[in-house]
Amino acid sequence: MTHSLFISDLHLCQTRPHITRLFLTFLQHQARAAQSLYILGDLFEYWAGDDDLDDEHHQQVVNALRALSEVKIYLMHGNRDLLLGEKFAHACHATLLPDPMLLDLHGRTTLLTHGDLLCTDDVDYQAFRKQVHDPLWQQAFLAQPLTERKSQIAGYRNRSEQEKSYKSEAIMDVNAEAVAGMLRQYQYPSLLIHGHTHRMGRHAMNIEGHACERIVLGDWYDSGSYLRIDNEECRMLVWN
Ligand code: MN
Repeated sequence: MTHSLFISDLHLCQTRPHITRLFLTFLQHQARAAQSLYILGDLFEYWAGDDDLDDEHHQQVVNALRALSEVKIYLMHGNRDLLLGEKFAHACHATLLPDPMLLDLHGRTTLLTHGDLLCTDDVDYQAFRKQVHDPLWQQAFLAQPLTERKSQIAGYRNRSEQEKSYKSEAIMDVNAEAVAGMLRQYQYPSLLIHGHTHRMGRHAMNIEGHACERIVLGDWYDSGSYLRIDNEECRMLVWN
């Protein structure tokens, strides 16, 4: 029986080498037998542009993904790595997905999203998101030298860390109306899978008479986790 795996929020970076190692062993072992691997955003802690592909840490990840020649790899942007481009996707033989993305998954209509679109209570973040998703903003940003981009990203990351310390837990979670709105827009798929909030869990919902399950993927901080789906069941599993 074929199955698909889902991960998100690995936040890979050089300063957390144990998580990169954990991810590489996950690819070598668990991911090998899957038909598809979906990475639903924030694979990297940050991504300054595809001209940073030569970096040794990035090469390790690219090579490990490319080695999965029998597995279809799908990649969605997160808020941290929204500048991952076609060059990166091509290097690791992955297909970039739009956010959100509707598909038939082992017989279930499923909506995939990174999750930040659903956090509408965080008004400041949504304004920032709109800015950095503007193609003109991205073009101007990417036109700067790599070192300059990296230092600007460091500034954004510092600011985001400071803001998180005073934003309430509720503000940083998904907004129920935004979830219902997205499900309605996509004709009530039976499954919604996202990451971003780092609040791993499964939530049974009823949206305007339609049953739907919302599955939140976990982050890769203390250990790894992944969702496995086949024709019969969905299971959240830990990888450490
Ligand atoms: Mn995120």
